[in-house]
Amino acid sequence: MSNIENSQLQSRQNLSPHTSVIVPAFNEEAAITATLENIAQRLGNLSNDWDIVVIDDGSRDNTALVVSQLPANLNTTLVRFSRNFGKEYAITAGLEYAMGDVVICMDADGQHSSDLLDTMLQKWREGYDMVYAVRKDRGVESNFKRWGSRLFYRAISLGGQINIPRDAGDFRLMDRKVVDALRSLPERNRFMKGIYAWVGYKSIGIPFMPLPRSHGESTFSRLRLIGLAWTGITSFSVMPLRLASAVGGGLALFAFIYGLSVVIDKLFFHESVPGWPSVIASIMFFSGVQLLFIGILGEYLARIYDEVKGRPPYIVSEVIKPQVASKIKPMIKPKSKPQIKPKKTEPT
Ligand code: UDP
Ligand code: MG
Repeated sequence: MSNIENSQLQSRQNLSPHTSVIVPAFNEEAAITATLENIAQRLGNLSNDWDIVVIDDGSRDNTALVVSQLPANLNTTLVRFSRNFGKEYAITAGLEYAMGDVVICMDADGQHSSDLLDTMLQKWREGYDMVYAVRKDRGVESNFKRWGSRLFYRAISLGGQINIPRDAGDFRLMDRKVVDALRSLPERNRFMKGIYAWVGYKSIGIPFMPLPRSHGESTFSRLRLIGLAWTGITSFSVMPLRLASAVGGGLALFAFIYGLSVVIDKLFFHESVPGWPSVIASIMFFSGVQLLFIGILGEYLARIYDEVKGRPPYIVSEVIKPQVASKIKPMIKPKSKPQIKPKKTEPT
């Protein structure tokens, strides 16, 4: 161990760092109170100085109201987005508002067990700057998620310059210097898994088994997962572009050799010109390949377009300390059937 690491280790051994937990929440009114109480209780045992930052990611239910009415001893700050921006942006905002020496990111639905907080802090004291939870067993997941995630990690490792740890999600502890490094990245396409890996630092994975969701369903549908994976690949890897070049080059070589053989046939063997089915088939094939690769180019262009527009990645509508009386009005759920009021009949 180097001298620097050794002195860092000694300096952390007996520390009780200010610990901030950030909790992105979207439509979590049913689960969030229990989750936050659980986190608060655990943090109270582990640290003298802690707080929680909830990012309400444009919930359409009463998540914000529920959080704003929590007792002051839960030390919770509520950051509200002006609309739903997505979990990646909620985490980005959380990192901006969290003040802790260490920052831990946890889901609002109770799937991330607070039992791990102790181990995470222990690893931090041992000198690790990032401690991420790794899913132990994906056996309980659907085939789509299992195979999809395999394919994703294979694809991103092919052309990426970074090594994204497998099955590690957003449930992780970060030292202040990691948080500051993450905050310094200006990009708007925020694929957090890639960004965590990109900043580096001394990291370690600890195994964990996600708990079942206490209420409702995951908001990450198949389509949304595919979208996220594609954002990840195009943000962190130029592999699709290289693939396009390789396939394009291979096809061009093939076409050249084929063209040459046609000319030789014609000149020396006076063979007849091949018929139209082969012409049509090859036109369709080549135009399909061209369109596909123009699409891939378009994806990268869209990423550049997003970046050059220079828009902020999210908009915060308000920041509320729950102990301050809040003005959030309860959401009124739409009624399933419109109620028709009976007409008043005039007394005769
Ligand atoms: N989430 C969010 N914004 C979204 C979708 C989800 O902040 O647009 C939050 C959600 O409230 C939860 C966490 O991200 O705290 C993980 O979401 P979910 O449980 O739906 O996903 P999964 O557990 O399947 O990864
Ligand atoms: Mg979940």
